[in-house]
Amino acid sequence: MTRADLVLHNGRIVTYDDVGTVADAIAIAGGRIVAIGSEADVRPFAPAGAEVVDLQGRTAMPGLIDAHTHVELGARARYIWSDVRHLDRAAIAAEVRRLVAARAPGSWIVLQGTYRQDLPDRAELDRIAPHHPVAIRWSMHMLNANSAALGASGIDRAYQPPAGSRVERDADGDPTGFLEEGFDLLAIPPTPQPTLRDALQRSLREQFLANGITTVYELPASADAVRSYQELQRNGELPLRMTLNMTIPPGHQPVIELDELLRSGLQTGFGDDWLALGAVKIFADGDEEAAAHSRLLSERPGGWGLFTRTYQQLAREVMQISAAGMQVWIHAIGDVAQEMAIDAIHAANRVHAGLRPRIEHVANLVTDPTQLDRIQAAGAIPVPTAAFMHGTAPDDALPPGALRYAYRTLIDRGFMPPGNSDSAGTQPFAINPFHGVYHMVARRNVRGESICPSEAVSVREALTTYTRYAAHAAFKERSRGSLEVGKLGDVVVLDRDPEQSPVEQLRDVRADLTIVGGAIAYERGRDPRDEEQTL
Ligand SMILES: [Zn+2]
Repeated sequence: MTRADLVLHNGRIVTYDDVGTVADAIAIAGGRIVAIGSEADVRPFAPAGAEVVDLQGRTAMPGLIDAHTHVELGARARYIWSDVRHLDRAAIAAEVRRLVAARAPGSWIVLQGTYRQDLPDRAELDRIAPHHPVAIRWSMHMLNANSAALGASGIDRAYQPPAGSRVERDADGDPTGFLEEGFDLLAIPPTPQPTLRDALQRSLREQFLANGITTVYELPASADAVRSYQELQRNGELPLRMTLNMTIPPGHQPVIELDELLRSGLQTGFGDDWLALGAVKIFADGDEEAAAHSRLLSERPGGWGLFTRTYQQLAREVMQISAAGMQVWIHAIGDVAQEMAIDAIHAANRVHAGLRPRIEHVANLVTDPTQLDRIQAAGAIPVPTAAFMHGTAPDDALPPGALRYAYRTLIDRGFMPPGNSDSAGTQPFAINPFHGVYHMVARRNVRGESICPSEAVSVREALTTYTRYAAHAAFKERSRGSLEVGKLGDVVVLDRDPEQSPVEQLRDVRADLTIVGGAIAYERGRDPRDEEQTL
């Protein structure tokens, strides 16, 4: 009999297996679950010397999975750039002045704001920072730059941005400083790699592990981040498990050309249980006005969505990626981009089935419910993000018949939408999966306004998106997503039972213990620095 290294007992251990088993105790040895069931089932596995944790009735469940996130961008926003999300415009100006005084002329100043925040424009930034390039981001999709930043980056009257990005111009043709999908256009020098590595490790520990997350599907934005994750893993310092999903150009944050990736022969899943190659990510359009919405195509000149490629190119790429045995994720926010993604996937999936192609952001807004039939026929996984309900406008702004964050409909139709934060520094609080769970169950935005309440799901269903469905969305269902013998010993112990929690308090559910591979990797209260996660 295998001797356990860690035993948890006297708990309510919700296994998230496909029949909804609830166990009292679990034993983990050699990083994997060796027994789970009643106290009597598990006791024989607990020799003297094993670490035994009495859960005292607390709830435990599989380690949570964030199925689409931007650890690198969030880490840069929090630990490398200046985080001004909570400041008003005058306070942001004061922060820029402080940074100008502290840094040599010519050195870059990057600030992270949040959606719809009132941020200083080019003229105001020029007055405060005439000799320092400054970029201030609403999100990874939109920013304001000052004249020094535009000048250092060669963005002038004659400049033409690459496909998928837009430089706003005034009536005279001069750039206003507002860039859409254009962060990569700025000539910001790279962060020293050790600084980046330490920021990534801190983010994984303080923002993810401390929220009960044991696996993240990351979208790295630089080769230095990819190297950093490997270095952390080699040194045994990677706090949790990751897949790296590689973005190809055109579009922002590309890390590899598709041709190079195809030539390498690498496939989805290469790596091990800690660090593995994930999918190929393609941006089909942008966000907000840069999303390719049919209703915006004619709204005002220049306000149309930003396509990164033609349909023919997209279809060819998806076919090539699938032929190479790789999973594809297509970012598509506007309905036109989504239909392109559905068609491209449908064509490839007929030839190379079983690769679980994903469409990111589909089902956040469904203007035409027949779209779900096409997604089903195409064999794609829809990936909405519940956390965005936080800032969503109330239902009275919805076109008639439209659905938002259609979790109820998706699950009833047999889809398995994976839970995710899609956090990139703009809403770091949304990394907590219970933030997403709250929105899926309560169906309210931050002002308490109702968001398509008929799409509500139960707490158990919401947490299934962060466990079983998320595992499935990256071919990880044999190793994680439920607590069953043979799977990885990744467990989170919660401070309360979310299924008994009042709905309004779901966001307050906290991880008491996060266990990765049978080792206690996070314990609430043990390291005060970890409590930063609650900010
Ligand atoms: Zn994203």
